[in-house]
Amino acid sequence: MKIKKMLVSDYDTNCFILSDEETKEAVIIDPGDDGVVLMEYVEGENLKVKYILNTHGHNDHVGNNDYMKEKTGALVAIHADDVDILTNPQLYMKYDGIKGQSAPDIILHNGDEIHFGKYTLTVIYTPGHTKGGVCFWEKKENVCFCGDTLFRGTVGRVDLYGGDLTTIINSVQQRLAVLKDDTQLYPGHGPATTMGYERKLNRYVRK
Ligand SMILES: [Zn+2]
Ligand SMILES: [Zn+2]
Repeated sequence: MKIKKMLVSDYDTNCFILSDEETKEAVIIDPGDDGVVLMEYVEGENLKVKYILNTHGHNDHVGNNDYMKEKTGALVAIHADDVDILTNPQLYMKYDGIKGQSAPDIILHNGDEIHFGKYTLTVIYTPGHTKGGVCFWEKKENVCFCGDTLFRGTVGRVDLYGGDLTTIINSVQQRLAVLKDDTQLYPGHGPATTMGYERKLNRYVRK
């Protein structure tokens, strides 16, 4: 699986474009902004984007959903519990110059599988940063895209609308910490890490 990380938005959000090098089928995780640059990559690699996947509904992760859907024809997928902030960012943001995105094509549930090329992403429901946060885990490649649920050494903020500390700790300990030590983790901001590193050094993962 080819993993292309691109920094987007004012918050340096990690947008990931995952593709199968044989079939050229691809998914885009969290196109928060800078769709013009994302499209340069998609077109340069000749990718067929099947899905636009949102780890959660914050604007820095979803802000170019509509743009990328229009350009690629891909279907947008997000968990049901973040559709409210996807379509109405004023729920968590005072600034009202940010427009909501269209309602999704697909509602994600814990355990759902998303197929592209020879790869399968499994949806892991991890609320706490928002109500409807999810991670995307590819078992064969042993990689997991964590959004703002888990960062290297810490977890995402819980002070915004729908956030809750106990909930995010439960998500991390019960849903993510079951992954093996050598699982590569790709957070929504900052550097990649591994579950083994987090098990040793992240106080929210350590029991
Ligand atoms: Zn967020
Ligand atoms: Zn973020």
